[in-house]
Amino acid sequence: MSFSFDPIGVVHSGFAEKFAIPRQPSLAPAARGTVELYPPYDRAEAVEGLESVSHLWLLFVFHAAASGPDHLRVRPPRLGGNRRIGVFASRATHRPNPIGQSVVRLDRVEPGRLHISGIDLLDGTPVLDIKPYVPYADAVAEASNALADAPPALLPVVWDDQALIQARTHAQRLGQPLVELIQQCLAQDPKPAYQQPPPERRYAVQFWDVDVCWHYPERDCIRVMEVRYRG
Ligand code: SAM
Repeated sequence: MSFSFDPIGVVHSGFAEKFAIPRQPSLAPAARGTVELYPPYDRAEAVEGLESVSHLWLLFVFHAAASGPDHLRVRPPRLGGNRRIGVFASRATHRPNPIGQSVVRLDRVEPGRLHISGIDLLDGTPVLDIKPYVPYADAVAEASNALADAPPALLPVVWDDQALIQARTHAQRLGQPLVELIQQCLAQDPKPAYQQPPPERRYAVQFWDVDVCWHYPERDCIRVMEVRYRG
């Protein structure tokens, strides 16, 4: 049997590239976005009742990742990037079928548009289905996972004065919590765990329409150097 599915909507987010997106939802509450629902799901009936719900399961396509039967084992970043485990023991994007699932906060409901936050989703991600989070069934009190037993340790993020002013200015223009977004995403250390960059090595990523530049002045510390409009 084979199946094919049409997306019911698409995610609009500030994550223009995969680099520096949190590795799971909820890690960056300031990561906001929307799900635009396609017809006929853009009609008010399709979202009736959702105003009673605080969180959603989004089922989506990893449209920007390779997939297929070649990926039996993966190297999750949180295990340092060099230990391999079975694909079904991981949440890696390279999977037999490129299907992702994230629990996200539902901030506001409009016909045809859901406002969400705490997301780990690339801009343009196709959405296959949306389901309400059901705490009594979905939160398992005795659950354990020795491969991922706690959120990743956070790095300190410090700012050049000028970069902080730039981030605040762009936050106001965009109507987004940009300072918090940068802080929360960079604190999770986007670079691969095995890299030990010298202080002069610069990193950059696009959030919304700005480029955020940083470096590691010392091991395990991030300094934001510039937040620049892409033009
Ligand atoms: N919470 C989801 C899950 O468990 O299925 C996703 C986990 S996956 C490890 C999260 C990473 O997927 C993000 O850090 C980002 O780099 C990547 N990602 C997000 N949206 C994507 C997309 N549409 N296509 C490919 N990669 C994506």
